Amino acid sequence: MSGKQMYQAGDQTLLRQINLSAILNHIRVETPVSRVVLAERTGLNKATISNLINELIDKKFVKEIGVKSSGLGRPPSQLILNPEAGFILSSEIGADFISVIGTDFSPKILFEVTEKINHNSDASSVINLLISHLKKAQEICSQNTNNNFLGLALGVPGLVDYETGCLLFAPNLQWKDIPLKKLLESEFSAPVFVDNEANLATLGEYYFGNAFNYEDVLFLSVGVGLGGGMLRQGHLLRGVGGMAGEFGHMTADPDGGLCGCGNRGCWETQASQRVLFKYVHEAIINGEDSILRESCCNDLSSLNTDLIVEAAKKNDKVALDALKKVGHHLGIGIASLINALNPGIIVLGGILSSAWEILEPEINHELSTRALYWNRESTKVVLGKNGKQSCVMGGIAVVYQAILSKPHNNEYIENEFQRR
Ligand SMILES: [Zn+2]
Repeated sequence: MSGKQMYQAGDQTLLRQINLSAILNHIRVETPVSRVVLAERTGLNKATISNLINELIDKKFVKEIGVKSSGLGRPPSQLILNPEAGFILSSEIGADFISVIGTDFSPKILFEVTEKINHNSDASSVINLLISHLKKAQEICSQNTNNNFLGLALGVPGLVDYETGCLLFAPNLQWKDIPLKKLLESEFSAPVFVDNEANLATLGEYYFGNAFNYEDVLFLSVGVGLGGGMLRQGHLLRGVGGMAGEFGHMTADPDGGLCGCGNRGCWETQASQRVLFKYVHEAIINGEDSILRESCCNDLSSLNTDLIVEAAKKNDKVALDALKKVGHHLGIGIASLINALNPGIIVLGGILSSAWEILEPEINHELSTRALYWNRESTKVVLGKNGKQSCVMGGIAVVYQAILSKPHNNEYIENEFQRR
């Protein structure tokens, strides 16, 4: 075969893959949808659409459902993503917990478990516990679907080399250089994805949350620290070293408090759970009256965000002031991010998002005074939808994205062939 012919053959395969991917994505976004509408949306002719859809139905990614009557003639059949295409497992290792969910391809949750772990647990015992929960999830999901294992994802609170799936450093766990992807691949025969939890949460809000249908998304996770992720045209922006999204370590006050990263005055020293606790501690130590004294039984080390939010909702001044101060600093940073990046939507997640009602007016006040009018008008700031499941739903999303971008790839139906 000449070089030219080889190029043409490759080109056609690529074109088919792009078209399959486009159709699958349209069905995801506009479900249920008819072939006629798909032809309009993609600009492909009806014969090509039918041919491509037959392939997607054969691969079980798409199925036809009951028809919508249009009154005249035979109503067109509707297409949806096939829940029975297989199952996906997703998991998270947090600073003091592990979490596992399993879903079908719709994605309906078929299995979920969260277990507290000891803050000082060693990596191997946590990973073994995670694997045992994943095996249980695999067993249950395979009984409830067609047993096709589509993919497995894991989110971790640290820096990850996305290509190798190695956790380089997780400051809150004190773990270093753990080849997580390799470890999971040796236990499970499905594509494995390991990523930073905020990156996954960003994808989760894009596929299944409040950033649905927005192509340029900024996700901020306000928890122990302040992390984030960013999507440009539906794809994660990783930076050349893969470490992009460390918004919490932008310097907000050169003379500010010491940050865990070694720098002074990082944004997360002004807007995170850690600083929220600090504000409350200081006020109580200074003798301010608060119901929080009683709700944590005079033991300030047992303070948590839920207690502070609850107290603020009862108009407790200490709790309200502390949350408003965090909201004020969050707003200042978000105004700069809107000016610099102008994303279509900014989604707020993480533990502190439970205080959204109190944070939102403070954030909006800063945006109205600090962000450029045109940038502000074109960027929405909203609360995330996935709550405590933001990372694990993001894990489902990362497997989804891999399949939707390459439905032609037989890796996702290999398991089925292997069983035959
Ligand atoms: Zn820092």
